[in-house]
Amino acid sequence: MSQRILVTGGAGFVGTHLCKKLLQRGHQVVCMDNFATGSMHNIAELLNNPAFGLLTHDVNEAVSLEVDQIYNLACPASPVHYQADPIATLKTSVVGALNVLELARLRNIPVLQASTSEVYGDPHVHPQSETYWGNVNPIGPRACYDEGKRSAETLFFDYCRQFGLPIKVVRIFNTYGPHMHPADGRVVANFIIQALSGDDITIYGDGTQTRSFCYVDDLVVGLMAMMSSLPDITGPINLGNPEEYTIRQLADLVLELTDSNSRIVHRPLPVDDPRQRLPDVDKARRLLNWTPSVPLREGLMRTIAHFKSVRATPVLAVV
Ligand code: NAD
Ligand code: UDP
Repeated sequence: MSQRILVTGGAGFVGTHLCKKLLQRGHQVVCMDNFATGSMHNIAELLNNPAFGLLTHDVNEAVSLEVDQIYNLACPASPVHYQADPIATLKTSVVGALNVLELARLRNIPVLQASTSEVYGDPHVHPQSETYWGNVNPIGPRACYDEGKRSAETLFFDYCRQFGLPIKVVRIFNTYGPHMHPADGRVVANFIIQALSGDDITIYGDGTQTRSFCYVDDLVVGLMAMMSSLPDITGPINLGNPEEYTIRQLADLVLELTDSNSRIVHRPLPVDDPRQRLPDVDKARRLLNWTPSVPLREGLMRTIAHFKSVRATPVLAVV
């Protein structure tokens, strides 16, 4: 059945893909964004669609809307961007969550929170399953995001316990793909732009730290599966690709796929950069029948093709 769906942060990287997919499924979409890190270019092709509405609005300000479901994605996600104004990041995570929860409570509608693998911090347990409570530095430069997202999870579960609100919390692991902003600052965007422009590939630290990389189409399928899951499935549920790579391996793969002559250089490792990260996605498999299908090589090729088609911009780095 067609629903009217609010996507906060809908003009960002993940939000753009989600809005498109929801429209393809016949839903109406209200995209709320303040364009802090999102882009009008991302949603330009959607603006003529009568089922798509754009609301330029800060999620930190309360709003009253007639909607049937909410996906709460509004928050800068790249360390460069979320550390640029840490107080705004923390506020968006917490006050933004409160505002969408209040909107959901008034209408008693399902609300999905885009949480993050950062709630596990620099993990002592590997791979990370949802039962792990994490190892987060509460006063470091990443805390505005990590603790903000942790507090948002707390709010979601308190609204569920206190008001019986149908909540859905997913913990998203590193996701990449077309529509990442060229100045996003995250590793996949940086490496591809550096390789395509012949600039040095900047590995922070020795490159032995690990991540897994989920192609955005796979993530969007997971988000929608979570939203349509049974009401008692609240999460938290990990969504990510269960294949682990070192950052050095990622750099080598990007160099190979772009056929680039860029050199690899090393830069200091940012403070509190997690050493190892890998999702245990068993819960998503069992409860949502979800498993990612796009291999890293394939997803990178699609992302490289996208970046080739947009003008390269200098990369951003954590200082
Ligand atoms: P993004 O920065 O591309 O998108 C975030 C969007 O939110 C942008 O369009 C931005 O303008 C908007 N926004 C920020 N502050 C806002 C505010 N106060 N009011 C309204 N809009 C605001 O990031 P993304 O990668 O698309 O991430 C989307 C969500 O998924 C975020 O909540 C992020 O924490 C979460 N997430 C993403 C990843 C990933 O790897 N992409 C991993 C973990 C969690
Ligand atoms: N990284 C890197 N070079 C870059 C950008 C990032 O080596 O140009 C590293 C970063 O230090 C981290 C990993 O890549 O170890 C992933 O960083 P990203 O900012 O993409 O996401 P994170 O998982 O840290 O939030």
